[in-house]
Amino acid sequence: MNEKIGYSTHQLSPSSWNRFEECPRKYWLSKQKLPKKASMPASIGTIIHNSVEDLCNINLELINTNKEGWFNEISKDIFQKQWSKEKKTFLDTPRHSKWKDELYDKSFQGFMGAVNILLSKAGLQIFSTSQVSYNSWKTVQKIIIANEGTLVSECGRITGRLDLLISEIKEGKTIGWIVADLKTGKPPTLDLDKKVSRQLRLYRDLVELNNPNHPPIKVEGWYSNNQKVYVETGPSVINQAFEAWQKMSPSDSPFQATPNEKSCSFCEWKAWCPSWWIAINDGIFKPGKMFRDEVVKLIRFDKESAVALFERLTPDGDKGKLQNSDHRFGAFLKDKSLEKLVEISKNKPDTELYLGSIRFDGKTAYLGDWSEIIEWNPLQNSKI
Ligand code: SF4
Repeated sequence: MNEKIGYSTHQLSPSSWNRFEECPRKYWLSKQKLPKKASMPASIGTIIHNSVEDLCNINLELINTNKEGWFNEISKDIFQKQWSKEKKTFLDTPRHSKWKDELYDKSFQGFMGAVNILLSKAGLQIFSTSQVSYNSWKTVQKIIIANEGTLVSECGRITGRLDLLISEIKEGKTIGWIVADLKTGKPPTLDLDKKVSRQLRLYRDLVELNNPNHPPIKVEGWYSNNQKVYVETGPSVINQAFEAWQKMSPSDSPFQATPNEKSCSFCEWKAWCPSWWIAINDGIFKPGKMFRDEVVKLIRFDKESAVALFERLTPDGDKGKLQNSDHRFGAFLKDKSLEKLVEISKNKPDTELYLGSIRFDGKTAYLGDWSEIIEWNPLQNSKI
C-alpha cells in the first residue's frame, strides 16, 4: 500500500468508484476520451463550489469593509463571474443542452446557503449576510485549514476533491477538524445516500491517512439547498477502495456491462454501448414513457417543415450490429437537433443514429435542445 506509483496509472475517486459499481462498462467508456457531455446540475455545482472558494480566499485588507452591504456586493460579484465562466465552458462542451439562465437566482441562494453554514461553523450568530463584518469574515477565514484541495493517498491510487477542511470550534476553542463536503443537489429526506456516505468516509480516511498526528476528525455533508449538515460516522472504507482500485485497471477490451433501468437512464455513453438497447429489446427493462431513447436510421427528412421519419433498428447479436424492423415513427425537430439532422442528412444520410431523450406526446415525437442525435458507434476496443 505504501509503494509509490506514478500518477499516470489509474486512480480511484469517489465518482469513478460509483460509476464502476453502477456498471463497469460505464466506467470503462468514461475513460475512452469520448465527447464529453455538460449538464446543468453539474455546472451549478461547479459555480457554487468555486464561488465559495473565491469568497473564502478574499483579501479583506483590499476591500472597503466599512461600506454598507460590502459582503453581499462582493458575494454577488464573485457569483456573477463564476456563472459567466461556467456558462462559457458549458456552451463550449461538444455535447450540451440549453443553458438555463432562469436558474441564476436559485443557484445564488444555494451559494448563500453554503455561506450561512460556514458562518455558523465559525460560531457566529448572524441572521442575514448583510450583517457580516470584517471581523466576522476574518473569523471564518481563520477556521479554514484547507479549501478546495486534492486529496491523494501516498501511493497515488486513491484520490478525491476536498471542499473544505476546517477547525471544529466549541466555546471558542478548537476541538478537532471537520472534513466538509458541499452538496448542491437534492438533500436526503432522512439518511445520506449510501454512495454519498461512502464518499464522505473516503475523504475522511484520506485526511487521516495523510495526517498521522491529526486531532479528532468529523466528516459532514453540507447541503446548500436546505442549509442542513449531515454528520457521517460510519467505519473506514479505505481498504474497500484499494480493492476496487485493483478491479478498475485499464483494459483494451470493454468491461462487462450490467444494464438496468437506473444505471442506463442517465448514462451518457449510450451511443457507444449496445447493451442497454439489447436489454430493452429483450424486455429486461422498459424504455421511458415520456422521454425515450432510440436507435434508428433516417428514412425521410423535410428540412423546411422540420419533420423526419425514422425506422427503429433492432439489435443483431451482442456487438452493436443492427437490423431493420417494421417500426417507423415521425418526429418534429427544432433548435440544435434540427441543425444536427440537417448536417447528417447532407453528409451521412445512411448512418445509424442514436436518438437520446426524444419527447413523446402520445405517438408524436419531438427532438429539440434537450435531445441528442449521435452516430451509433458501439466501442469494442479501446481506441486510446
Ligand atoms: S448504457 Fe447502461 S449498460 Fe451501457 S454503459 Fe451505460 S449504464 Fe452500462
